[in-house]
Amino acid sequence: AAKAQQKGTYRFFEPSLERRLVARLTREAELKIAIARGELVLHYQPRVSGDAVEITSMEALVRWMHPVQGLMQPNEFIPLAERTGLIVALGEQVIRMACEQLALWKQQGLPVVPISVNVSAQQLDTGTLSAALTDALREHALDTGLVEVEVTESATVTESGAARGELAAIQAAGIKLYVDDFGTGYSSLAQLKRLDMDGLKIDRAFTSQMLNGPDDAALFAAILAMAHALRMKVVAEGVETAEQLAALRSMACEEVQGYYISRPVPAHEAAALLKRRFLLPAQENRH
Ligand code: C2E
Ligand code: MG
Ligand code: MG
Ligand code: MG
Repeated sequence: AAKAQQKGTYRFFEPSLERRLVARLTREAELKIAIARGELVLHYQPRVSGDAVEITSMEALVRWMHPVQGLMQPNEFIPLAERTGLIVALGEQVIRMACEQLALWKQQGLPVVPISVNVSAQQLDTGTLSAALTDALREHALDTGLVEVEVTESATVTESGAARGELAAIQAAGIKLYVDDFGTGYSSLAQLKRLDMDGLKIDRAFTSQMLNGPDDAALFAAILAMAHALRMKVVAEGVETAEQLAALRSMACEEVQGYYISRPVPAHEAAALLKRRFLLPAQENRH
């Protein structure tokens, strides 16, 4: 790096900055190729009824099977995809893969539950998201109710006309919309009311703290009551303990999701979960 600095051309670059820039361009080019080559894979995390008895949906969570680095988690490449606009191509790929997987499971005779996909604000802004969803569903002859869409609270705040039109078009097509990570963004209650989403996923931050004390419990209960008042179904994210599950059950929270029920798993493990359909510790409580 010292030599390069003497040559002049590079003198405006801090060596570490230069290296970071090259690394970033490489990663960007790699991600582009990865999307085309099919290196992205979906893992699935079940969403279950509030009593944790029945799988109600499978959330598709993208991973990158990197040829050198192995399995990469979304936090290692989604931010880059967002910065570079690759998130649009990535997101369309995710929708196609989710529909393909669902059609396969259906063909294998497994119980059919909707797959939930996460979408970015940029996908809403393209104005083609609803078409991408309905095209993928039609290609695999799937009912529109079999795909659901999760939009982060911050993405719903963008307020662009195209995004609002897309949200309306998606719902008009019969596809359910969920606000993801609720409580971490900056949407106002007025926006929430106007958006008229089908459901709300309470961020894991609230679930993990709900048993810390009366204030935390009251906050969680208030979000739940607010969502119900607006006729939204509620999903608690990030349930990690039996105590949290029991508390949620007593609060009439419709659905739950989290490591206590299941971590996100590869497709073949998700198929095994679906085959049982009815899950886990709560099975003891079935009568
Ligand atoms: P998300 O949609 O809120 O998904 C939930 C994340 O929390 C997942 O992380 C999941 O593995 C993790 N999680 C679930 N239950 C628990 C729990 O009990 N405890 C803890 N500590 N974590 C739990 P993951 O798979 O790493 O995904 C992170 C985020 O990346 C997602 O958050 C979503 O915003 C984004 N993402 C994933 N796939 C896609 C995609 O296809 N498109 C877009 N645009 N974003 C995606
Ligand atoms: Mg999500
Ligand atoms: Mg979430
Ligand atoms: Mg989250």
